[in-house]
Amino acid sequence: MERGHRGGAHSSTAAVQATNDDAATSKLSCVNKGYIKDDYVHFFVRKQIRRAPIINRGYFSRWAVLRKMLLQFLNTQTDERKQILSLGAGFDTTYFQLQDEGIAPHLYVELDFKEVTSKKAAIIEHYSQLREKLGPDSLISKEKGEVVSNNYKLLPIDIRDVQKLDDMINITQLDPSLPTFIITECVLIYLNPASTHSIVGWAATKFSTAIFFLYEQINPDDAFGEQMIKNLESRGCALLGINATPTLASKERLFLDQGWQRAVAWDMLRIYDEFIDIEEKRRIERLELFDEFEEWHMMQEHYCVAYGINDRKGLFDAFGFPKE
Ligand code: SAM
Repeated sequence: MERGHRGGAHSSTAAVQATNDDAATSKLSCVNKGYIKDDYVHFFVRKQIRRAPIINRGYFSRWAVLRKMLLQFLNTQTDERKQILSLGAGFDTTYFQLQDEGIAPHLYVELDFKEVTSKKAAIIEHYSQLREKLGPDSLISKEKGEVVSNNYKLLPIDIRDVQKLDDMINITQLDPSLPTFIITECVLIYLNPASTHSIVGWAATKFSTAIFFLYEQINPDDAFGEQMIKNLESRGCALLGINATPTLASKERLFLDQGWQRAVAWDMLRIYDEFIDIEEKRRIERLELFDEFEEWHMMQEHYCVAYGINDRKGLFDAFGFPKE
């Protein structure tokens, strides 16, 4: 158990791990309603729950922004092989989807606590639809919480231990000189700021041609923000990092201070309005009756995407949100 710096705020490892079940359940709710296509997430959800339209729309936009940025990265012209590193990957199924679509990078590495990777390894072992995406010569150990194949590696670690995180580069055969997309989707905000700084700084010095993608909460200090934090605290998952980076500008500073060359942060309201494809929005806005516009705006202003870019090889000029 860790103490947060808000009065009485606490964070339990088990509760933080459980946020992953929540994410998978919500993504499945989106799949079932036709917001997103994911033929794999249902393997990871024990009890299906139908979420409210506003939650479905929120998860859709979270999924859509990451997907669009991943595609930008994967479509970047270069002769080099590419790799993806997902920290706190949970039950995310992006690797399996990219395999289906024939666009998986040469190496996809997922890291999480052992409790989570063991469950994920067991599920991958159990279902041939997942197993067959690993290719030949794959090794799965649910006891160790590991899946190791040529193109995909799932390994257990507490990412706050940056020395161990560094060891993972050799263990997983990541090549830090290759173009790399690092995903932290609703992960760093649960860590104390010192850990987040170390991880973001470590990645900046290690990966010279890379995107570091972060999706998480902002704006803790208005009424909506206070309620959002209270709700999470009551479940034992305090947002230990939110006071250190409460605004878009401070998320950008996090990257720049830790050595990333460029950084951009937008809130999800702007991302929905200006980045997510209009055809996709037209399609999903017809799926369910939706009249919670005021709450939708407030909610979306409390989540953001921030990314850092290191671009030693000049590959990423056109990457990211539209320039002003
Ligand atoms: N990124 C996935 C997604 O968006 O679907 C899962 C998000 S879930 C909200 C947060 C994940 O981060 C959990 O799987 C949790 O176990 C993982 N996590 C949090 N702190 C971690 C740490 N110190 N080391 C490894 N994993 C961690």
